[in-house]
Amino acid sequence: MEPQSLAFRERAARALADPVLETALRRLETGWQEGRTRAAAALPEFEALRDAAVAIKNHVLANLDLYLEIFEERFRAAGGVVHWARDAAEARAIALEICRAVGAKTVTKSKSMVAEEIGLNPFLEANGLRVVETDLGEYIVQLAGEVPSHLVGPAVHMTRERIAELFARHHGGPPKEDSAALVAEARRVLRQRYLEAEVGITGANFLVAETGSVVTVTNEGNAELTQGLPRVHLVITSIEKLVPTVEDAFTLLRLLARSATGQEFSGYTTFLTGPARPGDRDGPKEMHLVLLDNGRSAMVGGPFREMLRCIRCGACMNHCPVYLAVGGHAYGWVYVGPMGSVLTPQFAGLERTWTLPHASTFCGRCQEVCPVRIPLPKLMRLWREEAHRRHLPPPTARFGLSAWGFLARRPALYRLATRLAAAGLGLLGRRRGRFSRLPLAAGWTASRDFPVPSGPTFRALWRTRGRP
Ligand code: SF4
Repeated sequence: MEPQSLAFRERAARALADPVLETALRRLETGWQEGRTRAAAALPEFEALRDAAVAIKNHVLANLDLYLEIFEERFRAAGGVVHWARDAAEARAIALEICRAVGAKTVTKSKSMVAEEIGLNPFLEANGLRVVETDLGEYIVQLAGEVPSHLVGPAVHMTRERIAELFARHHGGPPKEDSAALVAEARRVLRQRYLEAEVGITGANFLVAETGSVVTVTNEGNAELTQGLPRVHLVITSIEKLVPTVEDAFTLLRLLARSATGQEFSGYTTFLTGPARPGDRDGPKEMHLVLLDNGRSAMVGGPFREMLRCIRCGACMNHCPVYLAVGGHAYGWVYVGPMGSVLTPQFAGLERTWTLPHASTFCGRCQEVCPVRIPLPKLMRLWREEAHRRHLPPPTARFGLSAWGFLARRPALYRLATRLAAAGLGLLGRRRGRFSRLPLAAGWTASRDFPVPSGPTFRALWRTRGRP
């Protein structure tokens, strides 16, 4: 998928004018946001678990080469085949080769952000394969010809009415009014696809080095049917999903669902270690795993290394005022919300995405709720600095920031300039008491008036009253 992030402003403006989207996104605040608060409060060791999770991920990232080798060896010993992919093109080519080797015509797939990142579906479809998404949200956005708008709830931007219309158009019959009937309809259609597929593709929430296991987490059981029914199971995932031990995986699992949806645990958590063994009654005959790098190894040891701790829970977007107002599609690429504003420039290039790190109020809620304590505002600020260095924002914005930076480093001059500016604005606007338009602040005054400064400046008040 080509990034459309440079058009963030226009896409966000369209989203803000969409009342259906507004209704859909409001559910996140009352649903998953409140759920996370309740779940965290109900678990006394929640904060300690977060610390442990940070330590686990930092340890793995500091020893990534070692754990990758151990995982590969154990995965092979369990009967699986590991494929290394440097970039998206390599990963796609490997996946196609595996599908072709078994003469696949239909492929079922459970939710995988890495598959979205490499543009797997359009590539397989362009090469003659029929790809069927089996996660309900992914299935809905596939039918709508859209892309996911949230890490955990791909169709979170849609209302039930819209989904009912979509199902009626694709499955026939009148639109259903009730959610349970819609779910039953999707289940009936998808059950048949599971039986037709020759290859099932899943992602992985975690890879366990000590056992060579792949861990998947869903609420629908679709990953289990995707990996267990077809002849071949193909896992497409990335190198930072490693954890050393099963115990470490459980530490992260205890945080994942609580942070994502407020559940204690997701409906289905599966540890899969190799394909079916002789005598097993079910399971795939072959199991392949594509390990994608796509720029991640270059992040290890760099300024954005902490982003590799991300466990894709979606809590940062559930709590982000910008995401909650504009939804995921405004971000214009696969990863959305605060985590997307850090990851997208890394994977798709800052030149094509520099607007995203600016799509933040820096209120800090994302960092507050991130289970692995990723300093998202700090990382977005690093991207902003880099964009400024590369002269990517428009000249007016760069000039304004440079001028402010110049003054901020000279307190006496700053004091004088703010006093003069306040006095000048006070004089100019004394008759109306407000400005409805201000040069260099058109964005601010587009939706509200600017009050005329009156009385002492903030700095003067601070001096007279002193620190609290
Ligand atoms: S950055 Fe943190 S909160 Fe956001 S998805 Fe990743 S782990 Fe979850």
